[in-house]
Amino acid sequence: MAKIKRDPESTQLYFQCPGCGHLHAINDSQTDLRGEKRPVWEFNGDFDKPTIRASVLNWSYRKNPDSGKYDIEIDRCHSFITDGMIQYLDDCQHKLAGQTIELPEID
Ligand SMILES: [Zn+2]
Repeated sequence: MAKIKRDPESTQLYFQCPGCGHLHAINDSQTDLRGEKRPVWEFNGDFDKPTIRASVLNWSYRKNPDSGKYDIEIDRCHSFITDGMIQYLDDCQHKLAGQTIELPEID
């Protein structure tokens, strides 16, 4: 069963992150970037046992009361995905920091 999916519209890849409890999306060489320059990851093409390079770094954002924008970084999540396993690096700010677990299946 698939652990990573491709969004048919944006062609981004996305996976469920157990550490954050929500989806993370990444761009690979097949993603339609619509002229925007964004990081592009390497994907091994195996949706059941995905390997992604380089590491995936995500931030969640909190609303800034001064600017009204969501520009305060919280909940850093930093991982490597290898053969369907997600390795959380020690700089994660969630409970799975430093652990390696299997990526959950995604619908
Ligand atoms: Zn995460």
